[in-house]
Amino acid sequence: MVSAGVIGLGFLALAVSLLGSMPLAGAWTPFLLSFGLLSAGTIGYAWFAYKDTVPGIKHDGIMFGNTTHRGAIAWALGIALTGFYVVLYWWPEYLARAIALVEPLSLVLSGQPANQWFLYGFLYTMAVVLFGFRMFMRYRHNRYHIIRTISVMFFQLVLAFILPHLLRALNEPEFYFSYFWPLKYDYLFPGTVDYLVNSPGALGSFMVFWGAVCSFIATPVLTYYYGKRWYCSWVCGCGGLAETLGDPWRHLTPKSTVSWKIERAIIYAVLLLIILTTAVLWVSSTSEGALSSISAPLQQWYGFYIGAVFAGVIGVGFYPVLGNRVWCRFGCPMAAVLGIIQRFFSRFRITTNGGQCMSCGNCTTYCEMGIDVRAYAERGENIVRSSCVGCGVCSAVCPRGVLKLENGTSHDDRYPGSDKPLGALSTAVSKGARVYGDRDGYV
Ligand code: SF4
Ligand code: SF4
Repeated sequence: MVSAGVIGLGFLALAVSLLGSMPLAGAWTPFLLSFGLLSAGTIGYAWFAYKDTVPGIKHDGIMFGNTTHRGAIAWALGIALTGFYVVLYWWPEYLARAIALVEPLSLVLSGQPANQWFLYGFLYTMAVVLFGFRMFMRYRHNRYHIIRTISVMFFQLVLAFILPHLLRALNEPEFYFSYFWPLKYDYLFPGTVDYLVNSPGALGSFMVFWGAVCSFIATPVLTYYYGKRWYCSWVCGCGGLAETLGDPWRHLTPKSTVSWKIERAIIYAVLLLIILTTAVLWVSSTSEGALSSISAPLQQWYGFYIGAVFAGVIGVGFYPVLGNRVWCRFGCPMAAVLGIIQRFFSRFRITTNGGQCMSCGNCTTYCEMGIDVRAYAERGENIVRSSCVGCGVCSAVCPRGVLKLENGTSHDDRYPGSDKPLGALSTAVSKGARVYGDRDGYV
């Protein structure tokens, strides 16, 4: 009750700050009152909600909750989140007072006035950190979840928020070291590379080098050893928000065969599109604009429909309705690349002790990527799926200890035929790109 009251006071302070007429820019009091009370209330709420409960994940009433099962509150939240993104991208002038509210922090970090992207980064980071604390309380019995939650909080707070703004303070390019092409699609566009390489000092060139090494060397090597979880559940900011703020809605991810087919069709289309866009931009830049008539519209189209509408408005706005991994599952080109490597070349697999499975279906229900985990467990088969982000929740909610996330000693003992990954890949492509299902087409 006390925590809910503190949250209420935080919202009141926020409303007074946003709707009032007092000057905000540079003033710490309204900033601290609004976000301090909201933060203290949220942490207190998570602490008191879980501290006296027996350790272990509980989902009592989750299928009946108004917020957690597409009730009126969930729809209102979805509309509010979607609306925030729309205003953020296309009408930021309506956020003028909210931007002024976070200005004191912007001045401390970067020495420059806040803009809508600073506001967005601040709110995003605050969500990951506060709901990350909720994850600590909720999953406190499970070392894997505690460590990976610390990891996503660290990468979001330090590498995706504080460091880029400190770089601005030092007159260096604002750069996000935890995002790589093709997710951060413009990092390998010729315009960005040109800008970074020609910026004063050597740091810009290092940033280009870092981005290229992470995209083309670190990604395949780490995915070979650990599966796509090293990025999707440990580093990525999109995954970080999904795993923290989005955790209450993970069970809403569609599980049908149709959703699986839609997933395969869209995610590979987006991957092909960003590869094509990047290639056309480079050809255009090295041939005196020969393809400029299509390169510029392609770049704008991708930035608007994929980078803004899909990744932002739909990807986060639809959490309360379609689950917490809408973007990661259906649209992220980085997830597509990681998934292909994971499916055919990685050591990662989820092993199943089929003899212990009692077919309760908890694992399938709480798989945020829509995988029918139970179908594998009942047959005692390893789970080797492109879409699995290695969140580990299927394992954590299993009452019989059936599921175990493992990095094997090689990649060729995960399923029949996995010793010849190139053959398996070409078979999958020739048979209709069945990359996202096992050989029986299970979802
Ligand atoms: S199969 Fe398990 S580890 Fe993989 S995404 Fe689903 S719940 Fe997470
Ligand atoms: S949660 Fe465990 S026992 Fe239940 S269906 Fe899944 S693997 Fe079987």
